[in-house]
Amino acid sequence: MQIARTIAEMKALRMKSLGSVGFVPTMGYLHDGHLALVKQARVENSVVIASIFVNPTQFGPTEDFKTYPRNTERDLAMLRKERTDIVFMPPAEEMYPEGFSSWIEVENVTDRLEGSCRPGHFKGVATVVAKLFNIVEPSRAYFGQKDAQQALVIKKMVADLNMNLEVIVAPTVRESDGLAMSSRNVNLNPKERQAATVLFKALTLARNLWGKGERNAKHMCQEMTSLISKEPLAKIEYVSIANAQTLEELSKIDSPALASLAVRIGKTRLIDNMLLE
Ligand code: AMP
Repeated sequence: MQIARTIAEMKALRMKSLGSVGFVPTMGYLHDGHLALVKQARVENSVVIASIFVNPTQFGPTEDFKTYPRNTERDLAMLRKERTDIVFMPPAEEMYPEGFSSWIEVENVTDRLEGSCRPGHFKGVATVVAKLFNIVEPSRAYFGQKDAQQALVIKKMVADLNMNLEVIVAPTVRESDGLAMSSRNVNLNPKERQAATVLFKALTLARNLWGKGERNAKHMCQEMTSLISKEPLAKIEYVSIANAQTLEELSKIDSPALASLAVRIGKTRLIDNMLLE
């Protein structure tokens, strides 16, 4: 496994890569959700490239950029085990040099959910992913359904800007009790870790109601909200049933829908979602 610590090193390694290139962008502190993307990329491509970059521009001023969990040695061992060919770990100063002033903004789909709770978040995400795509030049890039809105934003950017790659979205990997794997789960103390299962429970409730024929989105959101409210450590940011493509809030579920939510458990902000289709 080769490690590129500068943009020039990454480009030089890319020049020597033959065949299709599968790319998995991450912010590190890897878990089985990330590794599922790497495994899929390994099966589908000649060369697998992963990046580890905690992107400062997608964090708001009051968010957890400084305390975001990091463990590069552990990440590299995990990536080596999955037969990753190249790991790209650029320094922030090289990605955003003095005077950096070009940004990508994907409109509409970023207006809601994470976009409205975290102003500027998707501007940072779209810009860094576009930069990574330009540097790595992947044939295919792999994203997790765990961050459903992010996956839609990236797909839209790639389509709108005619980027020459395929975006692949892989299912959410969960712990045995349903909690979606996330680097931020490490911040939960044992009581909070137990409380965090309420996200999956609420989404499962939505899916069960949907399975029984419930199509009233407002009623479904009320049921989810009421379940989460019974958990004293949980504080809801949003609960949503939206069109799975546009993320417009639905009143009647008459198209494939995305049930999604953001909940704070203590100081840790968690998101999760489930498709209703
Ligand atoms: P992050 O390191 O959080 O930026 O995530 C890097 C990639 O891994 C993104 O495409 C995420 O959607 C994806 N990812 C994170 N958690 C999971 C999970 N539990 N299951 C599947 N993919 C995930």
